[in-house]
Amino acid sequence: MDLESGSQKPASGETERVRCLIIGSGPAGYTAAIYMMEDFKKQAARFGTEIRFGIATDVDFTGKTRRVVIDENKFVDADTIIIATGATARYLGLEAEQKYAGMGVSACATCDGFFYKQKDVAVVGGGDTAAEEATYLAGLCNKVYLIVRRNVLRASKAMQAKVMNTPNITILWEHQAIDLYGENGVEGAVLVKKKGTPREEIVKIKIDGFFLAIGHTPNSDAFKKFIDTDEIGYIRTIPGTSKTNVPGVFAAGDVQDPHYRQAVTAAGSGCMAAIDAERYLSEISK
Ligand code: NDP
Repeated sequence: MDLESGSQKPASGETERVRCLIIGSGPAGYTAAIYMMEDFKKQAARFGTEIRFGIATDVDFTGKTRRVVIDENKFVDADTIIIATGATARYLGLEAEQKYAGMGVSACATCDGFFYKQKDVAVVGGGDTAAEEATYLAGLCNKVYLIVRRNVLRASKAMQAKVMNTPNITILWEHQAIDLYGENGVEGAVLVKKKGTPREEIVKIKIDGFFLAIGHTPNSDAFKKFIDTDEIGYIRTIPGTSKTNVPGVFAAGDVQDPHYRQAVTAAGSGCMAAIDAERYLSEISK
């Protein structure tokens, strides 16, 4: 795939011209650059991809050439663009989440669950992700607490039934986590039961892992002026393709996937975007 940039790194205020610009450095982004892969980043570079660091702060998709503003003061003009900016897991905003990042706090049970084999963990959330992660962890861990802020689950009936029928999941209804504690990693969580009511109560649970499953925010803000998204902000693609509503602009990975969010599904959609972008380039150069 032709991903030449043919120019030097631009200075502030300068414009760079490329054939294909990929925004994002996860599995979708690197797969779009190389199509197949082993060690994503190294392999993408070996295939001629130029890797630049910066934040896409704005775009202008009105012209035939698509323009992306990097760090508010550099410009890249591209014939085609692949948006692979991912989605960011939401956190509760507790100081302890930062303190114990990588030391017991995680937002991905399928990535980190393995480290908690036969241990006790908690999952925060009441949606399908929380239900799915709790049941996944229940298969690995000794005990799983599901911390739910209301007295109902938002998850589908099928997922609710799965959670209820898993004996080593305990649902803590109307509980909210307010802190974590531990010497060299998470050893427990402090919760408030029935917060804001006269029956409010502090509860402590002993856990080794604290998993957040309270939703994700797709990183699509910079593109929303031109690109159609759903109500949460996930980029809408034409089903079965990586095409967005703007010709020549494609989306891959978690920024367009509210459901699967796995490295392999992101990589698969990155491959689709690479093929779609290549076909687009050959059509416009006819
Ligand atoms: P959701 O937005 O559906 O659920 C988020 C959950 O987190 C809610 O229960 C919400 O509580 C809770 N929550 C949010 N903020 C806080 C907070 N500050 N403190 C405590 N709890 C909080 O996100 P999901 O990631 O679960 O799902 C996203 C989409 O993906 C949904 O459409 C879902 O159906 C879909 N999905 C489908 C799957 C499947 O079909 N297998 C698997 C995974 C996801 P409350 O309910 O009180 O608002």
